[in-house]
Amino acid sequence: MKTIDTDVLVVGAGPGGSMAAKFAARQGARTLLIEKRQEIGSPVRCAEGVSREWMAECEVSEDPRWIATRSDAARIFAPNGTSATIGAKRAGNEVGIVLERVLFDKALAEDAARAGADILLKTFATNVLIDNGVVRGVVGKSLGEDVEIRAMVTIGADGFESQVGRWAGLRTMVKTRDVDATFQYRLANIRCDARYCDFYLGSCAPGGYIWVFPKSHEVANVGIGVQMSQLNGLADTKAYLDGWIASQPAFRNGKPLDMVAGAVSTSRPLPKTVTPGLMLVGDAARLIDPLTGGGIVNACISGKLAGDVAARAWQARDASETFLQSYDRAWRSRMEKKQIRNYLAKEKLAHLDDETLNTLIGSLSTLDTDASTMSLLLAIGKKHPRFIAEFAHLLWKT
Ligand code: FAD
Repeated sequence: MKTIDTDVLVVGAGPGGSMAAKFAARQGARTLLIEKRQEIGSPVRCAEGVSREWMAECEVSEDPRWIATRSDAARIFAPNGTSATIGAKRAGNEVGIVLERVLFDKALAEDAARAGADILLKTFATNVLIDNGVVRGVVGKSLGEDVEIRAMVTIGADGFESQVGRWAGLRTMVKTRDVDATFQYRLANIRCDARYCDFYLGSCAPGGYIWVFPKSHEVANVGIGVQMSQLNGLADTKAYLDGWIASQPAFRNGKPLDMVAGAVSTSRPLPKTVTPGLMLVGDAARLIDPLTGGGIVNACISGKLAGDVAARAWQARDASETFLQSYDRAWRSRMEKKQIRNYLAKEKLAHLDDETLNTLIGSLSTLDTDASTMSLLLAIGKKHPRFIAEFAHLLWKT
């Protein structure tokens, strides 16, 4: 068996993993990023919408190579066609830029490489190595060969289907009501307004929504997320989307350029994201925004925080849970309240009927484009206090 020694091992080269590798490597730790696929960023399983406000914090510079379109605002459509508009700066983690995600993921990995990280493709973990209760790396395969990768600190950035945390004994399971099944086409030959990312709520997508994220005026990612517990079978997701597309004059002549299916967690954050020798980031830590299903921003921010802590743990020769807890505290203080607020809002929205949604969104359609998700929830609360009763206390603090 081949053996590799490193200081910091990052499993998974999505946005969370590349960001973790960048921030660990730049502080001098020998850092290895492993990716099971043969190409970083491909195939894309994403609607590619992302906000811009986090980029300075993660030291990412906008690059025209990975920007398809820029969006001014999000439009939220009620079942009866009325809409509310929220300006991009405040519309949450998915609105601002529609990415070329294949190139975006590669650019983040390039940054990690520039900072000094090594990258191994077609290399995947099949279990963690545990010595005396401490995770010390992984075993797996690299280009078909058995491999043991030993590391002082391991970062699990292996996405929604994450196994690394579970292998290490962390509770990462999510309930089916906290998972959305997704299906998306990239549709050509349609008509859309490239200034907006559009969201359609109601019985067209039970417990979730349909999105239209434009790549141009005639090509868009058109997809659906449906709460898993409201489906009879996964094929239902595609059937809902096909039915909706057929009902829309601007989309019904669309032709698919690709299609993807996947799942996103819409759960509360995990109670624990570290164990001795290991930290989880991004989707592996269930850090997707439960209301919007957007996970790129939180993957990048949590990746940065974990990379910093990993480098400090290596410098201090201390990968104990006590030391790594500073990562858990850091991401919680940065985003936990908002995650919980959005989880509770999602729980409410997931069970509203079309008539109630028409009334709610109708009453918001006069909001100006500087409105934020929070002001939208507050406006709903003014007219329908029972809707926000369970999370009103979080609205004022997040
Ligand atoms: P990922 O990007 O999933 O990366 C994990 C990586 O780990 C993958 O490259 C995988 O191959 C690798 N890996 C897994 N297991 C192993 C292993 N054992 N060994 C080695 N490598 C491994 N978010 C948004 O912000 N905006 C959107 O518009 C949006 N749209 C979405 C649409 C769909 C249909 C879906 C399914 C998701 C969408 N998301 C969106 C969510 C977003 O894609 C994720 O939140 C984001 O990619 C999380 O980044 P990550 O680095 O945590 O994980």
